[in-house]
Amino acid sequence: MKKLFLIIGAPGSGKTTDAQLIAKKHTTITHYSTGDMFRAEIASGSERGAIIDSFVSKGNLVPIDIAIETIVTAIKNAPNNVVIIDGYPRSDEQMNTLDKYLKQESEVSLINVIEVVVSKEIACQRVLGRAADAVVARSDDNAEIFNNRMKLYTDPLKSIQEFYTSKNLLTQINGERTIEIIVNEIDELIQSRI
Ligand code: AMP
Repeated sequence: MKKLFLIIGAPGSGKTTDAQLIAKKHTTITHYSTGDMFRAEIASGSERGAIIDSFVSKGNLVPIDIAIETIVTAIKNAPNNVVIIDGYPRSDEQMNTLDKYLKQESEVSLINVIEVVVSKEIACQRVLGRAADAVVARSDDNAEIFNNRMKLYTDPLKSIQEFYTSKNLLTQINGERTIEIIVNEIDELIQSRI
């Protein structure tokens, strides 16, 4: 049985960094970031990568069929039974599609959805700070695309929060503290549920 944890958060919330650090601490945990998986597909030069790029480069969501297939394949192929995916779901449709998949897949259980909460101001500062750093800069880290990514994150958020709260699966984590404190808190939560 695979135990799935989802991490959601605004662009710049630190969700991918947090999850990477947790997976680094435990050889029994596998982590995937939807954004990283899409960037890898783009970098591979495949046709699918070119389609994905036409969405990611504008800060738009890649189509639902690509998004769900990407995470389902990742979960299935994960070498460990504890799987953290950050960056999913990002819409009601993605949430409902995953819910349907989980209902018919007895080998995967959604254990918790962790929301890394940061204010829009902090998120913006972090992303635009990253944009100014040539080593970590991403092509979608500029003010205009950031605003689009932020809006696409915020629009469905309430509905996503309500859905997982009603299932008693949502945990909100204050993402404005030091990375160490945030990572420890998420790690403790995961360890207490596996
Ligand atoms: P991130 O690395 O989480 O900031 O994601 C970078 C970009 O990848 C996003 O702006 C979207 O274009 C795309 N992306 C990431 N996750 C998803 C998802 N669950 N559904 C659709 N597109 C996504």
